[in-house]
Amino acid sequence: QQKLKQLLQKQLNQGRDLLDRGLDRHVRLAVTGLSGAGKTTFITGILEQLLHGDPRRLPFWRVAREGRLRGAHLSAQPDQQIPRFQYEKALATMASNPPKWPASTRSLSEIRTIVRADKKASWYGGGRDYRDLTIDLLDYPGEWLLDLPMLQQDYAQWSAQQRELLAKEPRQQLASTWLQQWFHSSQAAQDNQQTDDDAQVRETAAAYRAFLQSARQQGLYLLQPGRLLLPGEFENAPILDFFPWPEEPSEASLPPHMQRLYDLLEQRFEAYKKEVVTPFFKQHFRHFNRQVLLVDVLGALRRGPTAVADLQLTLQQLLPSFQYGSNSLLNRLFQPRVEKVCIVATKADVLVPEQHEQLQQLLKSIVSPILDSLRFDGIDVELHAVAAISCTQASARDAEVAAVTGWEQTDNGVRQVAVKPPQLPKSISSGEFKPIAYIDFVPAVAAGLGATGIRGEALPQLRLDAVLEFLTGDKW
Ligand code: GDP
Repeated sequence: QQKLKQLLQKQLNQGRDLLDRGLDRHVRLAVTGLSGAGKTTFITGILEQLLHGDPRRLPFWRVAREGRLRGAHLSAQPDQQIPRFQYEKALATMASNPPKWPASTRSLSEIRTIVRADKKASWYGGGRDYRDLTIDLLDYPGEWLLDLPMLQQDYAQWSAQQRELLAKEPRQQLASTWLQQWFHSSQAAQDNQQTDDDAQVRETAAAYRAFLQSARQQGLYLLQPGRLLLPGEFENAPILDFFPWPEEPSEASLPPHMQRLYDLLEQRFEAYKKEVVTPFFKQHFRHFNRQVLLVDVLGALRRGPTAVADLQLTLQQLLPSFQYGSNSLLNRLFQPRVEKVCIVATKADVLVPEQHEQLQQLLKSIVSPILDSLRFDGIDVELHAVAAISCTQASARDAEVAAVTGWEQTDNGVRQVAVKPPQLPKSISSGEFKPIAYIDFVPAVAAGLGATGIRGEALPQLRLDAVLEFLTGDKW
């Protein structure tokens, strides 16, 4: 009986989804970005505005500004096999004492809201009716998109590309433990003639994974395979136990033991493409119709020019995933239907409002060269700078010294601090600038600390209304 109920519910959901899509009242909004870009926080912030937003604080979202929003509620999960986005847990974590940021995105999740708004008054003034818009928010790690180009490569090509990256610092230094491990175990295997290939691959893959993790901590982004960093449902699965072939190819054929290892790694690489990368794009990616890409521009500026260059290189790999032009790889493979892409610099609340334009400009100079080389046939692209959950208050515009006030973590709790905002570089095009410095504020506003933190109202944000207008404005 339970099963029958589930089946009926599923059919009902599917029927409604189809109807909504047919009537164009359904937005499937996917949010991605590399780890730490701010996905969990962004989705939480968007939900806050949808569910409790005060229209007076959302002036750039037209339907709110015009006083037409009637309300919104969370609705039943649309896809039974995708975990629900943990909105309530995110709020509870931020509201804890001391307040903490919610756990970062590690896998795919989603949540559905239904937003009701009055239709525009008709010209004859009658029939002020309402309409519902279903908004599904989907959260997934940007690291997974980095794997898309692998679909066009074979193991030898991929390995050659990775070796080229690994030959440069700081990767070379960071990868030395992995390489040593590889050479030792290969040598031992050759001396003994007796080998457990599977164990050798497993151990060396673990060392490769440790390398990727340390590279991530050093602020590098272009790291493959993405699932080694964020495995999702493939945690501990042998399909993730592979790494690029560490040695340059030579004319001589490989010794038998090495050939076996090569074959094993090649098999795993192919299996990874077929069973991990392809299904993600097939099952999920092509069902998104709007996409947000979050970029931690400030975090990269803090780490310095190398991190900014690496971020740019990574986005160069990642952005083609959104190139839905008729000839793109993605389109040929999966035929997605994305109509809008919003590229967003996050955490703008560490700045004063006068600097937001400059942050947006810096985002533009990072992504423009890439966007220019791509063709976004018939797709709208906009850039924004936002704070999904604003943790600070800025000094008045005419204050003698510009400052932001927020809360920082201490050994025994939190304390309020007022600091000068970081000085953003004018330009990053020369590849030379001084790294910026700023405090990691805690979301004390969610715990009711600070003037703006009154629960029952939406948490404060900066410019999410402009993002909502771009992503949903055409639907009301
Ligand atoms: P994810 O890995 O993309 O899911 O990123 P998170 O949403 O977990 O954000 C990573 C970290 O960035 C958080 O723990 C915060 O420290 C910081 N952060 C994210 N959004 C904001 C924001 O709007 N304002 C501020 N001040 N910090 C933010």
